[in-house]
Amino acid sequence: MDVQQDGEQNIDYNENDGNTVPKFTKLFSKAMDQFRLRVFFLFLERLYIIISMSIILVLLSLQDCGWNDLHYWVLFSNIQAVFSLILYGQLFNFSNKESIQQHLAFHYVQIVFVPINEVTDHPVAPEVFDPTANLTTMELDKKADVMQLQIRQEIVNQSKFCKYNNIFSNATNQGIFIWTIYYIVANPNTSTGSGECDKWPIIQTYIYGSFLFLQYSQYYLLAALALVMLPFILVYLIIRCFTDRRKKQQALMALNDLQKNKILYKPNILEGDQECSICMQPYQSDDEVLRLPCSTLHHFHNTCISAWLQIQSTCPNCRQQLLPDNLQPLLQQPQQLQEPL
Ligand SMILES: [Zn+2]
Ligand SMILES: [Zn+2]
Repeated sequence: MDVQQDGEQNIDYNENDGNTVPKFTKLFSKAMDQFRLRVFFLFLERLYIIISMSIILVLLSLQDCGWNDLHYWVLFSNIQAVFSLILYGQLFNFSNKESIQQHLAFHYVQIVFVPINEVTDHPVAPEVFDPTANLTTMELDKKADVMQLQIRQEIVNQSKFCKYNNIFSNATNQGIFIWTIYYIVANPNTSTGSGECDKWPIIQTYIYGSFLFLQYSQYYLLAALALVMLPFILVYLIIRCFTDRRKKQQALMALNDLQKNKILYKPNILEGDQECSICMQPYQSDDEVLRLPCSTLHHFHNTCISAWLQIQSTCPNCRQQLLPDNLQPLLQQPQQLQEPL
């Protein structure tokens, strides 16, 4: 396994340089502690759910309650909680293994080599050697939150069963959560008519519902926020689409207006230099020449100035604005220029 190899590498490291010992950074140990605490709580939650649901199931069968939807909810939640319990138990177990911790710390470059005479039994490096010790509490919390998620992803992949159980548990948690919300919101206990048999299962929906909500709250809030924002985003996109179209049309109209000043070159027909200052070529008879509105002296080959206006909206000589501003991106594609109005 990967972990084993990295563990050995780490020992090699020590032998190569006998004067230092690898220690965890403050950031890594904080993220690791948070992860273990979180997983431990989730484990306890599921243990509580399994015990209480099992007691309820026994009571239901003793009271001859029969099976309604709500009782099936208790049964399925209980079975599902067993998978989650195994998952969190495994994650907690993996996260306590020193070899896995070291592997992760190396993986995320959260190892500091501490001189052997400064080493303590504590797995975290003394602050003087640790760059993450300089972080403010807020920065440290933020980074630890992110690292916690990365650690989770790595630890989940430590075993195939864990990996698939993680996918299964996360998916079924959402299913159970929706099912639970249905009982909390719709509160269908009046329709069953057997209040006594449904009393404890109903209480259980509130407990398990809040456990699941807390566990996934950040995702649920994010999803709710996205749902609320969606209409605004759509309206913004529609407005942008229209303004872009309008801008493009304005640009094409401005270009078309300029084209009205196009003439066929004849000697002495133009003031100033009798050459195009873009290509530096003297005009020949019957060349298409465009005079810009900024000055009678500012004239160019029609092809030269057309190419210029695809990347610039100003006169090449005096920099006067010829097209509405910020239109260059819209005019990047030459075929748009040819579009008839
Ligand atoms: Zn030219
Ligand atoms: Zn000009």
